[in-house]
Amino acid sequence: MQHIRYQNSVMQVEGISVSDLASRYPTPFYCYSANAFRQQYRRFADAFADFPALICYALKVNSNQAILKILADEGAGADVVSQGELLRALAAGISADKIVFSGVAKTSTEIAFALECGIHCFNIESESELQQISQVAVQVQRTASISLRINPDIDAGTHAKISTGKSENKFGIPWKLALQTYQLAASLPGIKITGIDMHIGSQISKISAFDQSIARLVDLIAQLRELDINIQHIDFGGGLAISYTDQDIDEQTLLAEYAAVISRYASALNCQLIFEPGRFIAGNAGILVTKVIYVKPVEQKTFLIVDAAMNDLIRPTLYDAWHQVATVIEPAEYAATTTVDIVGPVCETGDYLALDRSMPKVAAGELLVLHSAGAYGAVASSTYNSRPLIAEVLVDADREHLIRPSPTHQQIIDLDSVPDWL
Ligand SMILES: *Cc1c(COP(=O)(O)O)cnc(C)c1O
Repeated sequence: MQHIRYQNSVMQVEGISVSDLASRYPTPFYCYSANAFRQQYRRFADAFADFPALICYALKVNSNQAILKILADEGAGADVVSQGELLRALAAGISADKIVFSGVAKTSTEIAFALECGIHCFNIESESELQQISQVAVQVQRTASISLRINPDIDAGTHAKISTGKSENKFGIPWKLALQTYQLAASLPGIKITGIDMHIGSQISKISAFDQSIARLVDLIAQLRELDINIQHIDFGGGLAISYTDQDIDEQTLLAEYAAVISRYASALNCQLIFEPGRFIAGNAGILVTKVIYVKPVEQKTFLIVDAAMNDLIRPTLYDAWHQVATVIEPAEYAATTTVDIVGPVCETGDYLALDRSMPKVAAGELLVLHSAGAYGAVASSTYNSRPLIAEVLVDADREHLIRPSPTHQQIIDLDSVPDWL
């Protein structure tokens, strides 16, 4: 992690030390590196520079407006899954013709709004959705460009909760029904078939899973062209894995292997290529900064009780996710270590950020960072236990900006309304 690392024994995000940041922003908070976002985006884009490619950043992983502005300036399009995300993408200056709309449950309101905006494509997940989009398009007198998200029934070899390309998952149209669903689409008013789509899961490092899935789509494209259904783009979804440990996955090699598989198919396809990377762009561009409140040794282990909790970062308890934890002050090389569980203040046994970690001895008041918190972190947070959503800070070289302040307790209380008859 080139942009987030120890320098002079203190963790730095680009040119600013995390200790300095923590003296200005109360912990816990998220902190992002603008140049890490840029670098990851460019790496991904460069891997497909030889093709007509549209890179639609998956907003759901981190949709702060400042982050979207950075990526919009790099030329990114957007993959959105709700009207809220569509509005966010447009507000950040991403033009509608670079936006694809995914998700299993687009409502007629969302469909009408997206049609008025003139988005690039709807990624359709079911026959009922196809019928609905046709109806709405006729009503608002627009044509909906669509692709069908095909469920290739391939095991992506990832955690069950982030696997989406098996037949038992709720996502996509079973590949065996693809041809008949395309034929239905071709017969419906208000519908223009433009592409084919897949997204088989997340944190995927098994390149063969992409390969097998793409093979199914490529096969379908050939059959569709025989039926005079001309597929003009193929959307590979997102899902490429990142390194959560510094050692487990070599991101550059994985990206190169991924690009090699896609290039092998793409040369013959004569299609626009669409990608929806999320985690790959954002994951290692952010950290969560937290402070130790108490150290609590019990008979079998020691708990480091910190001020961040599952409501701020739900990945460990939701997906058994592993985030590297480090002290902000670099430990001495041969510092003695103990094994700890790092837990938060929320009243849930599942409220942990890391289990069974070997850590140098840490005292109350010390700062810790959780690495790889740029994707599926802030966006998935909640106010459980009446804990305000935490701040987000952006660092760009030696500049910093509070890109989302944490609301006050009073602001949160004021969202409720007590009827006057109580
Ligand atoms: C979540 C999601 C993505 C992004 O997945 P990553 O693993 O973060 O790259 C892309 N497309 C769709 C349809 C998604 O649901």
